Amino acid sequence: MQNLKIYNSLSRQKEVFEPLIPGHVGMYVCGPTVYNFVHLGNIRTFLTFDVLYRYLQNIGYKVRYVRNITDVGHLVGDGDEGEDKIGKMAKLEQLEPMEIVQRYTNDFHQVLELFNFLSPSIEPSATGHMVEQIEAVKDLIEKGLAYESNGSVYFDINKYNEAGNNYGKLSGRILEDLLNETRELDGQAEKRNPLDFAIWKKAAPEHIMQWPSPWGMGFPGWHLECTCMSAKYLGKQFDIHGGGMDLKFPHHECEIAQGKGLTGVEPVKYWMHSNMLTVNGQKMSKSLGNSFLPAELITGTHPLLEQAYSPMTVRFFMLQSQYRSTLDFSNDALKAAQKGYRRLLNGFRNVKNLEFEAIENLEIDTKKKEEIEKAILAFYDSMNDDLNTAMAIAQMFTLLKYVNMIYMNQLLPAAIGQETFDDLKSKFVIFFADILGLKEEEMTKNDSMLQGMLSLYREYKANQQYDKVDQIRAYFKANSMTIKDMKHKIDWAWEE
Ligand code: AMP
Ligand code: ZN
Repeated sequence: MQNLKIYNSLSRQKEVFEPLIPGHVGMYVCGPTVYNFVHLGNIRTFLTFDVLYRYLQNIGYKVRYVRNITDVGHLVGDGDEGEDKIGKMAKLEQLEPMEIVQRYTNDFHQVLELFNFLSPSIEPSATGHMVEQIEAVKDLIEKGLAYESNGSVYFDINKYNEAGNNYGKLSGRILEDLLNETRELDGQAEKRNPLDFAIWKKAAPEHIMQWPSPWGMGFPGWHLECTCMSAKYLGKQFDIHGGGMDLKFPHHECEIAQGKGLTGVEPVKYWMHSNMLTVNGQKMSKSLGNSFLPAELITGTHPLLEQAYSPMTVRFFMLQSQYRSTLDFSNDALKAAQKGYRRLLNGFRNVKNLEFEAIENLEIDTKKKEEIEKAILAFYDSMNDDLNTAMAIAQMFTLLKYVNMIYMNQLLPAAIGQETFDDLKSKFVIFFADILGLKEEEMTKNDSMLQGMLSLYREYKANQQYDKVDQIRAYFKANSMTIKDMKHKIDWAWEE
């Protein structure tokens, strides 16, 4: 197993990854609130954990990956007051809340498939775990860590801290500062301390989504679902909890308080946070109006977009930066990513067809052989260094150089020896497809048709029917492809 190090937001340093049960990993990632279409920013966060999920499995762990669907309790403004995001949309669109939930859950799944994400092992929803959430509220009240006030129940920060805990330790927030920030907010009268947060909210009569509870009709607080569902499927202590950087406070801070309050133990060993996708330095978000949807990206129809970009170009663009750095969207960066991705994609297509041929008495080119072996090891080292996909991709370009040399007949496979050749071939595919999760562009699923066109090309060329030859070339060009007419064979490649 590889020596993986990951940055733990809780200790604020890179730590050697050692799961609670050797060989097994429990991972929970906060999923989307399904009241609207997912935008490109959301995709960056889910991509980080898709790559982590892939990598952990690839290096031999058995992983249980839980990613929830938030379908109740997340209020406009992310606080304790205001309308439910889903309820509000249901009213606006005159639909059942569950119709909204279904529509945007379907969209979420379609988008994830488009970007080649693996499905999680379990995808639980908040409304499906009402019993667990009500039990957790009762339990926290019994433990003296929560109190009822006017039909709502609040988590008691003072009691929690008096018991030796430190609310604010994940986000590094200072209680004094937080107090100053919250004093002005609505709905504080019911709380003993303005920092207390709702774990159960009394529903106003016009609030559509509400359930019976010992405290009257209401709904669970947003943070509670993740505590209950992670504990149910991964245990009261589990390995990795992930989400976007913006969820550190209050969401994850409150999750820690609830989990620790309920069980007495730290719920999560490694907290991981993915940084934001920005546009001109500003967080991409729906409320700022600077977000675009995957559909707009693929068709190039958003005013910020100079052209259409394929989902795999976008995936590659995002992987070119390490998940903890911010990533700024720009057309120039995406165009460069398109080039880089297509170069690798050409290598991916070609490497699969390369064959080893033994040649007696051929001297091994040790320099090349060693450079290939070094690049393979460096790929793993980069991934082990807190998933540095940017550095890992740089290693892939070193490997690509050799794949291309062999493909172009400039290097004989025998010159690097069978073992290194086999390793180059298998690792290139594993890195590209299994770990980075890249794949062929949709259009080339029909490769047999393209091969058919190439055989026509050969025939027309042999018969000197150059107008037909040009027509076929033009077809390939119109689809960003080029015909490679080489001495030893005729093939097609993506235009780089
Ligand atoms: P939401 O549906 O708003 O709860 O967001 C779903 C996930 O996307 C959360 O983990 C957020 O942190 C993440 N997210 C939202 N906006 C961005 C962004 N601009 N860049 C990266 N991640 C984001
Ligand atoms: Zn969550």
